[in-house]
Amino acid sequence: MAVDLSPSMAACEKDAEALRFIEEMTSNVRSVQRRALMEILTRNGGTEYLKRFDLGEEDPLSAFKAKVPIVSYEDLQPEIQRIANGDRSPILSSHPISEFLTSSGTSAGERKLMPTIQEELDRRQLLYSLLMPVMNLYVPGLDKGKGLYFLFVKSETKTPGGLPARPVLTSYYKSDHFRTRPYDPYNVYTSPTEAILCPDSHQSMYVQMLCGLYMRHDVLRVGAVFASGLLRAIRFLQLNYEQLAQDIATGTLTDKIKDRAVRDSVAGLLRPDPELARFVTRECSSGDWEGIITRVWPNTRYLDVIVTGAMAQYIPTLEYYSGGKLPMACTMYASSECYFGLNLRPICKPSEVSYTIMPNMCFFEFLPHGDVERDGKMYSHDELVELADVEVGQEYELVITTYAGLYRYHVGDILLVTGFHNKAPQFKFVRRKNVLLSIDSDKTDESELQKAVDAASQVLRGAGATVVEYTSYADAKTIPGHYVVYFELMSSNAAISNNKVMMEECCIEMEEALNAVYRQGRVGEAIGPLEVRVVRGGTFEELMDYAISRGASINQYKVPRCVSFTPIMELLDSRVVSKHFSPRCPTFNPNERVTTTTTI
Ligand code: AMP
Repeated sequence: MAVDLSPSMAACEKDAEALRFIEEMTSNVRSVQRRALMEILTRNGGTEYLKRFDLGEEDPLSAFKAKVPIVSYEDLQPEIQRIANGDRSPILSSHPISEFLTSSGTSAGERKLMPTIQEELDRRQLLYSLLMPVMNLYVPGLDKGKGLYFLFVKSETKTPGGLPARPVLTSYYKSDHFRTRPYDPYNVYTSPTEAILCPDSHQSMYVQMLCGLYMRHDVLRVGAVFASGLLRAIRFLQLNYEQLAQDIATGTLTDKIKDRAVRDSVAGLLRPDPELARFVTRECSSGDWEGIITRVWPNTRYLDVIVTGAMAQYIPTLEYYSGGKLPMACTMYASSECYFGLNLRPICKPSEVSYTIMPNMCFFEFLPHGDVERDGKMYSHDELVELADVEVGQEYELVITTYAGLYRYHVGDILLVTGFHNKAPQFKFVRRKNVLLSIDSDKTDESELQKAVDAASQVLRGAGATVVEYTSYADAKTIPGHYVVYFELMSSNAAISNNKVMMEECCIEMEEALNAVYRQGRVGEAIGPLEVRVVRGGTFEELMDYAISRGASINQYKVPRCVSFTPIMELLDSRVVSKHFSPRCPTFNPNERVTTTTTI
């Protein structure tokens, strides 16, 4: 269905301006993209990296396409490490690298460090400024109330060379762009900026929830960045409603909130409201949480959370908490490397979400996904396609060239072209390449899971047991969600699976072996304790029989390392002989990796 973005539909002149901009960008994709690439090549032609490819001056565009290779993070690690260590020469970018954004994608178990430059903040801000003008086309009257958004900063650190290293949203919330943003009636939040910026996530959440409760009738939209974040907020309400109600009844703030700026930020709001306190207690103590969002915030028009990609697993739970009544708006598609685009139909069903990539953000290329046949043999595609040339129905891997100095960088996302807005293609997010398990921003691939299982095997070896087979799934039904790993064991000692101490040791050793983003998520309570379910002998053979009965080839059958198909999970669960959880949090040190001064 075509989207009508004509400026005459806009809610105000500022919105009309934004819609005109979207129309202009999406109508001139090829020229905007060529201009972006030329700007990047012109300003960065003298960098050490680009000079290696001798692009010449006559036709830099063709030279770029012919000579610059597609790279992954690992290829750029030597350059990135030099910048992190303090080398200020123009290695990747002629503009100084202002900070590193710590991606939730990992390399060798640690967060990737994505270089960025000051002006990228303007580009991110520009994309943010387009979201409400689009939303206002579908949901009128959002200037008559507020948004309850649970937003947080995460810990940050400095590289040996003194550059900040932090997640992209932490960088944005701490920037002047966010902190000193001008008043905009369409973007009024219930959360004070001081609460969002509070590094202690408990204090931050407490005050954001308290403000949301006080202003419950003003709230027109409820959100978080990802669905997992919103579910954590609901869980927080379940666990803390008594204290919240007590504070509301007395008009005071618990002394557990120690942060001075946070305390000051709510001083003007606090007032005794016994009726509201009774309401909160009644709603939260009844044990009935179905539709809690619409009961506590009755004027909510939509949930503003990403439920595409790995977050789709949370849709049923969010539907439960919102009584199935609220649309879930996925407004944008972005990463630490670059912000990509927005959803021009934000009030559509989650399964229909497509993102329109904005051609001014960076230079986009696409590697067709899947194999091609040549001379009777199957090969991976190696020809990149420009943004203007992608084809509807085809899946692609995203490759970007940014203003900050990534050239033909393989992001790792697989996208499907679903249609066009003007000349701009629209993409469904299909999945992240090679990601097996994800609960929050963690992304665990097959080799990382294998490493974790190896760590468990070490523990079991002492007792003469081995893991014969394993598979896993991300359990999104618990809040927070957690990893479940099924083990089939071989042991002379039949009682091994009931050895609680040893099996718990397996769980924690697996967690210690998982990557830094996972461990940070565990420490920050965004991910629950890892669970091992031991299944009885022969279960994985039954799994194979089942797959073969459904048409799998007996020669090519491989044990799936992650399962989500209900009959398979039912089969596994019906064979479980014991369940064990990690008894404590794994270690996480925010300074991991970035403190190293060695050159990789
Ligand atoms: P990070 O590198 O931690 O900034 O994470 C960026 C990644 O998150 C992207 O490359 C995607 O894999 C995923 N992501 C971001 N936005 C969306 C979205 N709207 N839908 C699905 N996945 C997303």
